[in-house]
Amino acid sequence: MSWTGKLPLWDHHCHTLVNPERATDLEGLARALTEAKGDYPLLDIQQTVTYQEALYVAASHLGTKSDELAVQSALGSVDYEKYCHDLFFEAGYQKLLIDTGYQPQSAWDIQALSAALKLDILPVLRLETMAERYLSDCEDVDDWVQAVRNDLQKARTRGYVGVKSIIAYRSGLFVHPVAPPAAKAAYRAMRGEGRTRLSNADLLNYLLWEVTPTLIQEGLPIQFHTGYGDPDTDLTQGNPLLLRGYFEKYINEGLRVVLLHTYPFHREAGYLASVYPGVYFDVSLAVPLAASGAPRIIAEALELAPVSRFLFASDAHSRPESFFLGARLWRAGIDRFLDKVVTEHHVSPAVAHRWASMICWENCQKLYSL
Ligand SMILES: [Zn+2]
Repeated sequence: MSWTGKLPLWDHHCHTLVNPERATDLEGLARALTEAKGDYPLLDIQQTVTYQEALYVAASHLGTKSDELAVQSALGSVDYEKYCHDLFFEAGYQKLLIDTGYQPQSAWDIQALSAALKLDILPVLRLETMAERYLSDCEDVDDWVQAVRNDLQKARTRGYVGVKSIIAYRSGLFVHPVAPPAAKAAYRAMRGEGRTRLSNADLLNYLLWEVTPTLIQEGLPIQFHTGYGDPDTDLTQGNPLLLRGYFEKYINEGLRVVLLHTYPFHREAGYLASVYPGVYFDVSLAVPLAASGAPRIIAEALELAPVSRFLFASDAHSRPESFFLGARLWRAGIDRFLDKVVTEHHVSPAVAHRWASMICWENCQKLYSL
């Protein structure tokens, strides 16, 4: 049964598309469906379920054969804006929360994207990227942390609805306090060497630990990249269980955390959401990239976790076909999960309908106060 039916989707973590200049870029579609580096062989990416399914999405919307030549030539003769709009509309997207920290080549600017898709788009602030902008102005580590706090205090009025941390693929998720003398020394060394990319573990941890009270005060949820994703990531450092010390310190003070992606640690994330108030999660990226496993991944994510802590996100970027595929696999996986709990576990149909709405958009509305 289609529990998700025509319910709108609010995507709480995704990125912008490529603009019409790259409308026919099918290699861009393949590369948007892998987390491998740019030198990974294209011919191998093309032999994945997710790529073949995305190619089929394009072909069926264009009314052509599902092969590269036919799809590319059909893309060259359609109105790209309308093509994108129709895919988002048919998939049921209503609102996008976009992390502007990742920009594909020839990125579509958010205003133009919002106008083309006729969708409400809200930005999420990437913490480390914002903090890097203050490095050159601040001589001392505490001036720098204060500048970041001031920026966070203005985030809501500038339209941001949340904050995202990429500490997982800079120094790992074992987030911990750092003694001020160590942070001061690391800051001095970094400025001395003229580095502008924040990669020192002491500085990353000091910053995050020190600005978290401001996130709580401002009511800003913080998203963490966890698990799979980004060619930089060391997956052994991306297990969300490593955040335990940070949760123990801040969750009871009112912090709300969102664990993004989580795969292959989606069961660990489900466990964390089941024991810590204020912890939310998704299985974005794995749905759609682990296409054939989507129903199983969704079911495993919800083995322990309350449905009220689970959100829809695609983590899609660059191409409209990956957004469409993310939505379609999500709806099919949720429908299958709800069928199972209704037929095998005495969850009433009324509750299942309620859960479908929560997962598709209501949890997002509540968490980000939209
Ligand atoms: Zn992302």
